[in-house]
Amino acid sequence: MTEPHSESNEEHAGTSLKTEVAGLVGQNLRITRALKTLSAGNRTLLRATDEQVLLAEMCRVAVVHGGYRLAMVNYAMQDDAKSVRTVAHHGSNNGFIEALNLTWSDTERGQGTVGIAIRSGKHCIFRSTSDDPRFRPWRDRAIEHGFLSLISLPLRVDDLVIGTFTLLAGEEDAFDRAEFDLLDEVAADLSFGISVIRTRIKKAESEQLARRALTRDAVTGLLNRSAFLLELSAIIEANVHRPEPITVLVVRLTRLQEIYDGFGYDPGLEVLRELARRLEAVLGSNVTLGRLQSDEFGVFLPAHDARAASIVAAKLQTTLAEPVSVGEIAIDVAATIGSSFYPGHGDEAEMLLRRAAIAAREGARKDAPYYTYTGTSQRENPERLALAAELRRAIDQQELILHYQPKVDLKTGRIVGAESLVRWMHPKRGLIPPLQFIPLAEETGLIRQMTYGIIESAIRQQHAWVRRGVELPVAVNLSVRNLYDPRLVDAYTEQISTWGIEPRLIDFEITESALVDDPERAKQVLSFMRNRGASIYIDDFGTGYSSLNYLVSLPVHFLKIDRAFVTQMKARKEARAVVASVISMAHNLGLLVVAEGVETQEEADTLNALGCDQGQGYFFHKPLPASEYEKLFH
Ligand code: C2E
Ligand code: MG
Ligand code: MG
Repeated sequence: MTEPHSESNEEHAGTSLKTEVAGLVGQNLRITRALKTLSAGNRTLLRATDEQVLLAEMCRVAVVHGGYRLAMVNYAMQDDAKSVRTVAHHGSNNGFIEALNLTWSDTERGQGTVGIAIRSGKHCIFRSTSDDPRFRPWRDRAIEHGFLSLISLPLRVDDLVIGTFTLLAGEEDAFDRAEFDLLDEVAADLSFGISVIRTRIKKAESEQLARRALTRDAVTGLLNRSAFLLELSAIIEANVHRPEPITVLVVRLTRLQEIYDGFGYDPGLEVLRELARRLEAVLGSNVTLGRLQSDEFGVFLPAHDARAASIVAAKLQTTLAEPVSVGEIAIDVAATIGSSFYPGHGDEAEMLLRRAAIAAREGARKDAPYYTYTGTSQRENPERLALAAELRRAIDQQELILHYQPKVDLKTGRIVGAESLVRWMHPKRGLIPPLQFIPLAEETGLIRQMTYGIIESAIRQQHAWVRRGVELPVAVNLSVRNLYDPRLVDAYTEQISTWGIEPRLIDFEITESALVDDPERAKQVLSFMRNRGASIYIDDFGTGYSSLNYLVSLPVHFLKIDRAFVTQMKARKEARAVVASVISMAHNLGLLVVAEGVETQEEADTLNALGCDQGQGYFFHKPLPASEYEKLFH
């Protein structure tokens, strides 16, 4: 390293001993300053967590420890002018830097060391600022400041030259081989330092995004249901020792579905965002606001009793009554606000929220803008309680049976599988359709036990069919509540192994709106089933508000286009267009499409022409008892 540079050796041959010694000493000094820069720079690198601080510190080290006159970091901007920005420097320069006006384009002001180093990706040295013709634009000022030679070393991040580390020295002919080698290392270290910091920041950002996704609603950015519940629980807990009333409000949008149907999804989402903004504006940033499900917002107000709550509710109604403009259109939004109070209506977050939601629904039915939970509605209704008791018994006595509705390949007309649909064989009332008892089961929690039973029946049935040589998948419908049930996955696994059924023979359907309420939870449960080999269907697609892009982040294979679209295809051009675009987008995203509720030959033909993969509906087959379904194969 200390060997003299060979060129300069020859050049200096024949000069006096004195100059030779002076040359050697000078060279040692230069190596020393580069070394000092390197080692002090290393300490800086280890400590720096901020890019700007790192750059400034490296420049400082080069001047203070290394003895260079001026050190700069210049970044190449990706603008049209290919400009260069000095992002850090150290050393007095009296306006020299401001006047640089550098570029990395191949023009006159791009012929300095910085421009050349950025373009070529290699270091560039001017040994004499006064003689080098390329340096002319900056020469006079440089000489004035005693900057007599300079080097620019490229800085690279991810194989891209992002700029240079540039050092100016007070003597000519600086930066010989040995010094350059060391400085090259300094620049490589600095590049490494920058990329470490940038990677760290990117990682922190994506972690933050991931955390946000867990607690935030994707459309409005408000807290999602689980995060809202957590906060409410925390407030209730903190409130236990000196109880103050707490109000829970649920704002229910009663026309959201109509808005989607009439104006489309994107305007619908726009409306939701605007409403979220308005609610926030009225409530202020101290109040916790969340999006609980597709058409419900939730608010809780600590230290608010019924009187105070009704004032807030009135303010909210006023802001919600203003139409929302989306583009040229003004959309009217109708909302009902329901309320419940701690401790009068319960002392658990979940219960308070449920009761406020019941009140909102009740209010909507009565056309009341604001409605307080009354305690005698729905849940406590004696008739419903009696029915719930009967349902409990029915589950134990296996009065619930499954019907099977075939899914048909639209091209070949062949049956490719079936959906299981539950029915209640009531000893007195006869066959009760699912929509009359599933909501009750969901509200009372009976849905858990019920779903275990349904999964077990479907698996038992599959076992029997497989033995008879029919090996087609059967899909089980899941409720959103099932996704919150930590036992579900075990119950499923136990039955699969008990009956030795291939997991690919039991699929799952889940409605779009359920997926949107708590996507992370849904993802976990569905991923588990999917990894075992089940296909996952998104049911009633088109009735929620999720974007397809969002859905592909979920472990799903099939979309089931909601019956409403299929039915309206003939009468309404828009419905047909929606179906066509859902099919083509789904295919682009690698999903298959099933159309629900196909009732006519014409619908089947249209769907087939649009490329829809499968169909299901009365036109092919109604839901059939198991004994009828199996006849289709013999
Ligand atoms: P879904 O999963 O979307 O099921 C399709 C519904 O449409 C079924 O009604 C079916 O009988 C009906 N359907 C099928 N083809 C046609 C048609 O061509 N025209 C008409 N008008 N209707 C048709 P069902 O059996 O009354 O079930 C209603 C809903 O109840 C289901 O909607 C599903 O969300 C729920 N459900 C049914 N069984 C279960 C179950 O085992 N568990 C859970 N959690 N939910 C279930
Ligand atoms: Mg279904
Ligand atoms: Mg459906």
